[in-house]
Amino acid sequence: MSGAGRCGLVLLLAGLACCAAGPGAQLPTHHGEEGFRNPYVERKKTSPLAYWRMRWFGDVEFPDPEEAKGKIPVVAADLERIRQPAGPPQVTWIGHATVLIQYRGVNVLTDPIFSERASPVSFAGPKRLTPPALTVGQLPRIDFVVISHNHYDHLDRPSVRALGDGPRWLVPLGLKAWFAKAGIDPARVEEFDWWQERRFGELTVTATPVQHWSARSPWDRYETLWAGWALQIGNFSAWFTGDTGYNEHQFREIGERLGPFDLALLPIGAYAPRWFMQEVHINPEEAVRIHRDVRARHSIGIQWGGFILTAEPVDEPPRELAAARRKLGIAESEFETLKVGETRVLGVGR
Ligand code: ZN
Repeated sequence: MSGAGRCGLVLLLAGLACCAAGPGAQLPTHHGEEGFRNPYVERKKTSPLAYWRMRWFGDVEFPDPEEAKGKIPVVAADLERIRQPAGPPQVTWIGHATVLIQYRGVNVLTDPIFSERASPVSFAGPKRLTPPALTVGQLPRIDFVVISHNHYDHLDRPSVRALGDGPRWLVPLGLKAWFAKAGIDPARVEEFDWWQERRFGELTVTATPVQHWSARSPWDRYETLWAGWALQIGNFSAWFTGDTGYNEHQFREIGERLGPFDLALLPIGAYAPRWFMQEVHINPEEAVRIHRDVRARHSIGIQWGGFILTAEPVDEPPRELAAARRKLGIAESEFETLKVGETRVLGVGR
């Protein structure tokens, strides 16, 4: 066979191999044909309409906001320490999923929400139970913000606009266009797929899998990705989850590939009723399992006490966490909760 003939045969075989594998065969398992997908659960109940149907018409009682007031421990933020951190890594729980991580002059903020409601509109939707511990104006210079996904309690337009082009925004795939519409300079926004890692000076960041979903309306379900974030600043490593359900695969893999972590910030609220929430929101016991799976040396339970999004009593998550720690043999010093506004100074393990 001539050189040209051999070449043609190789191209033909390559083409057949491609067609035999089918279109999209090269895509990772979380890239579905209709948006992104979770590798370990089917999409079923996850829609904004299903949520409101469950909340308004389901046989589910939600906590009364008036009765819930005053049940969440709060402390005045230590502004001096936040503006001038001492040497070790420190974290401040601003409320819900908003946490300020500070180390070596790098300030990272997670899922900032400073608004009164987690909602597309300012006059309706889940209202804050406890105010954020700081205003945007009281924050130190923010170098990076990580966004886990686009639900209203994690991606809040007024808070994004208030922070503006100051920070570098690290977001899951598909969210860059939303930031451009919100008026943020696209050059300040970096999109990540799961397992992508980038370095920005002192900070190395990796987007990790979690089991959740996305939607800002009934018409954009699964169009943008959801992710956790592994942060390495010098010798300090942290992992922020955002919302997630539990499975026995993803968190072990994160622990194997990126762990151990000096700190994991894990959700312990928004879990009831289980028949509705389980696949995409962990309960405190599953949070403890994830703490073990990712090999965290220290975990802090967040995403409770900020908004009434689900049916569990507002002050139940820390009690359930304590029961889960006892059941699974984890010390309180290993997995704790903070008061809203509290700063915790941490050790580093490597
Ligand atoms: Zn969510």
